[in-house]
Amino acid sequence: MEKEYVLRVLQKKRLFRYGGRQDQSEAYALEQMYKERTNVKHGLAVNAGTSALISALIGAGVGPGDEVIIPSYTYIATATAVLIARAVPVIVEVDDSLTMDPQAFEAAITTYTKAVIPVHMRGVPCQMDEILAIADKASLTVIEDVAQANGGSYKGRALGSLGHAGCLSFQQYKLVTAGEGGMLLTSDDSIYARASIYHDSAFTFWGNNRFARWGTESSVDFDPFPGENYRMSELNAALAMAQSQRIDSLVDRLQRLKGRIVEGIRDIPNIRLQRIPDPAGDVSYSLVFYLPTVAQAQRFSSELQQEGIPNGTIDNNGFADRHIYKNWTYVMNKVAISDKDNPWTNEHYKGHVEYAPDMCPRTLDWLSRAISVSLHQSMTDEDADDLIEAVRKVAATI
Ligand SMILES: *Cc1c(COP(=O)(O)O)cnc(C)c1O
Repeated sequence: MEKEYVLRVLQKKRLFRYGGRQDQSEAYALEQMYKERTNVKHGLAVNAGTSALISALIGAGVGPGDEVIIPSYTYIATATAVLIARAVPVIVEVDDSLTMDPQAFEAAITTYTKAVIPVHMRGVPCQMDEILAIADKASLTVIEDVAQANGGSYKGRALGSLGHAGCLSFQQYKLVTAGEGGMLLTSDDSIYARASIYHDSAFTFWGNNRFARWGTESSVDFDPFPGENYRMSELNAALAMAQSQRIDSLVDRLQRLKGRIVEGIRDIPNIRLQRIPDPAGDVSYSLVFYLPTVAQAQRFSSELQQEGIPNGTIDNNGFADRHIYKNWTYVMNKVAISDKDNPWTNEHYKGHVEYAPDMCPRTLDWLSRAISVSLHQSMTDEDADDLIEAVRKVAATI
């Protein structure tokens, strides 16, 4: 299907989404599809997940002087996006779900906090009820990072549709991929208008009434301001569309596999399964459980490997994983694009944050005792049963 979709674009000789009829654009079609899937008012196709995050932050009016709360366990791009918007990332602990700890989030709110970015890591939905309630009380913008959880849900609602904005990635390593690409989802007219302007330096020139199609033109102030070029190419949109049409069957298969494995190992006394805030919404490509000690986790990992089950401890014995805050060197060192344009020393910023490698000890503790196994749609039920047997066998010796 991917080939067919891409060839169709080549045959049309239209690789650029604007300049022609929008209803014949692949990027437009992808936006329509995700709007329907996730039940939001607007979708904005962009060239990367990072671009979606930056556009969402700029869209929400985040800028110099603001703090944005992010979890200690996420891809570095979550923090980078905050810095590119000239705001200060405030890093908080994750809990045994390996997603943002709502209490740590609440404790980190200051008068400078403008937004929070809960990250649905490894397909696992965050504790959105708690996070949304805390954010609402403090009038914060909630931007969901859905880069690793496309197709997931929380209490029946699509991830990316619960906060004020949601950001998808179609980068090579994600579940649904076009090599590169991203999508901003929002039902907020103002975020959509500002993000649209930011994602294209000439946005307001590509024909008249870019915003007219949703009929609220007059209610949104969209005087143009400078933007970047985050537009999605028609080829990437066609690829993303071909892949996205398979999400539901893919997630369905993964959920049945993971459910079978969890049933088979949940009674093992000395392992503890990752807490999943809503198992029905887990994209389910990642199985994680914790051992009581780091030494046991390391022994478990190598013995499981010997049983033929590829796995890892998440902190990989200290290997610099870009998903763990202590390895985000330029964040830890407060290095920005320029000393004269540094969010931490900006004259508008009146707050103060400190970073240190040991600032989130609970995160490091969970990660160092976690065993992680990746699940694939090509796994059979027999493969799942072999995995169960191997985990049980190794657990008996630990
Ligand atoms: C991949 C990823 C991103 C960035 O997406 P890109 O498309 O690579 O820019 C952001 N956040 C998380 C959690 C990711 O995994």
